[in-house]
Amino acid sequence: MKSYADAHCDTVVKAMEAGENMLEFSGQLNLEKLAAYGPAVQIFAIWLEPKYYPIAMRQTVKYLDYYLEQMERYKDRVGMVKGFSDILENKKQGRLSAILSLEGGEALEGEIAALRMFHRLGVRLMTLTWNHRNALADGVAERGTGGGLTTFGKAVVKEMERLGMLVDVSHLTDAGFYDVAKMAEQPFVASHSNARAICPHPRNLTDEQLKIIGEMDGFVGLNFFPPFVAEKDAVTQDDLLRQLTHMLDMAGEDAVGLGSDFDGIDVTPTDLRAVEDMALFLERMEQEFGSHLAEKIREKNFLRVAERVWK
Ligand SMILES: [Zn+2]
Repeated sequence: MKSYADAHCDTVVKAMEAGENMLEFSGQLNLEKLAAYGPAVQIFAIWLEPKYYPIAMRQTVKYLDYYLEQMERYKDRVGMVKGFSDILENKKQGRLSAILSLEGGEALEGEIAALRMFHRLGVRLMTLTWNHRNALADGVAERGTGGGLTTFGKAVVKEMERLGMLVDVSHLTDAGFYDVAKMAEQPFVASHSNARAICPHPRNLTDEQLKIIGEMDGFVGLNFFPPFVAEKDAVTQDDLLRQLTHMLDMAGEDAVGLGSDFDGIDVTPTDLRAVEDMALFLERMEQEFGSHLAEKIREKNFLRVAERVWK
């Protein structure tokens, strides 16, 4: 089967909390299921349940320790990515590529040195906020206050760009999005967000925001969570294709890819319940968009941004 790149999943947290390993984790995604797609590329997010915010850095270190141990244990099947060349090497060796991300700047506990430490440990993307307010910015649940990035948040974005980390605006308020867009000197991403014009959810991006991501040579990953896909009870792959079509129209053919959110979502499209259903979706994408554009969505667009930022 064809390989693909996916910019977001929550498997690390779910597998560790379940006391399972990442190879055969019983959730929506695991390394064995992913390996059916050849040398696929997967970003693994460390997401914190809000109850952990008072000990955000400590809890992040625990997930990180678990992740690093799992990467070591299954290194014959999966290679941890620190630079873009690691992805090329993994593909050559037929191994999966795993990239570590932080979902929410809570993990820094207001300390920019923590960002550099997490970078040294392999974190290559950070979603600035989850839904709430943190030291960096307001998350989407705080949008009523009109807040964007804080002074610290702007310093973090600057340092991320200097280090060669991808800045992720998913979960951010509109004000925060524009703060990032204004100051960004390199492409930024919305790792798992959809088009608000197709599904009017505040987690989704407006047409103007999608256009800006395209103009910045950035990337937006299609999220499979039904409430972000369409305003209906049962969402299917048809609805995902509708989202993709609009996202491509707005952001352009070089800026759109996948950001499944597997293991972060308790509801899925009825015909895309887990990684094993991706084969059919990749096929549907090819029928809908043709092989050239489908390949861009499948992984080329993500790899282009990764090559530019992960030096
Ligand atoms: Zn998320």
